[in-house]
Amino acid sequence: MAGVAFKNVTKIFGKDVRAVDNLNLEIKDQEFMVLVGPSGCGKTTALRMIAGLEEATSGDLMIGEVRVNDVPPKDRDIAMVFQNYALYPHMNVYDNIAFGLRLRELKGFLWQISHMGDAKKIKQDIDRRVREAAAMLGIEQLLHRRPKELSGGQRQRVALGRAIVRKPKVFLMDEPLSNLDAKLRIQTRAELIRLHRTLGITTIYVTHDQVEAMTMGQRIAVMKDGVLQQCDEPETVYNMPANKFVAGFIGAPPMNFLPAKIADGKLDAGAFKIAVPSGHPASGMSGKAVTVGIRPEDIYDAKVTKIPVTADNTFEAKVDVLEKLGAEDTAYLVAGELHMIASLDPATRIEAGTTANFAVDLDRLHIFDDATEMAIR
Ligand code: ATP
Repeated sequence: MAGVAFKNVTKIFGKDVRAVDNLNLEIKDQEFMVLVGPSGCGKTTALRMIAGLEEATSGDLMIGEVRVNDVPPKDRDIAMVFQNYALYPHMNVYDNIAFGLRLRELKGFLWQISHMGDAKKIKQDIDRRVREAAAMLGIEQLLHRRPKELSGGQRQRVALGRAIVRKPKVFLMDEPLSNLDAKLRIQTRAELIRLHRTLGITTIYVTHDQVEAMTMGQRIAVMKDGVLQQCDEPETVYNMPANKFVAGFIGAPPMNFLPAKIADGKLDAGAFKIAVPSGHPASGMSGKAVTVGIRPEDIYDAKVTKIPVTADNTFEAKVDVLEKLGAEDTAYLVAGELHMIASLDPATRIEAGTTANFAVDLDRLHIFDDATEMAIR
């Protein structure tokens, strides 16, 4: 087993496409790390560099204590699972899973034929590992089938099986669930988490899906334009986003952003004016242009809430649209020029088209400096 580290790693394609820009990131031994970010942020390139499929322009790539920049991919002891897992169509599931192991053993082929007894032992060992992996993934009954006789989810499990049997130091996964339908994706997500718990193999998982990142990662690394924005546990990234980008990327429905000015201890966004939370460093920044960030679940119907409702934390808005989702109601609010989304308790009596008072949980408010887009804390 081994950790993985990127030390000042940069990848430049052609003359000036900075796919990964001075990345410093340490993935601990046995950790499940998710690299997440929008399309083009450099997450796949980062993963491919660890795999040895892409060369770093500068910096050090470490697996365990070893600098692997110049180590050939096959000697890095990693296993990759891609979105487009290519199974061998003419082989059954058993042979697809056993293939990589056999290939490895082929290296010692001459040794094997001069030691026929050992060759038998190796065959038995491969058989045991294939069956163990198949049992772990619940595909024992499919071992004789060809890929075309499997569902998408079953095929993905075979691809995982192929990676598991190798018992690598590190798993690299690039959007492995994106070809599955929504229900299967959720199910396979849970299976992958369980698998990681059982095997304890260091895993780096790339996705653009923030829900996958939040639910799977022990830590998540959020990237934008090749630059690491924040790396922390999912709750910390959600509750204390380092900057406006992370705040807007993580969370659905997304955080509301309101352009405001700080004046007389208030956050003034026109039709929305609430107090700067007491003790917040922004209170001393009179005149500063900021963006107020409020998560939808931190806005309450002022009549149905446990948080204190005072003049300091309420605003009036019109409910443009109200979606009743069962567990919560999603309200699209309009206050003057401002538009906001609120996730309300379904006990709310508010109706679409009416105007009502809403309360904001000031303890959960985010304030971003407009000049740097960094959170003010
Ligand atoms: P996606 O989710 O769309 O795969 P990503 O975050 O994984 O995106 P990368 O594939 O790592 O992003 O790409 C990062 C940047 O590098 C992009 O601007 C991309 O266009 C560029 N890029 C990637 N591969 C190459 C290449 N072989 N040649 C030139 N530019 C490349």
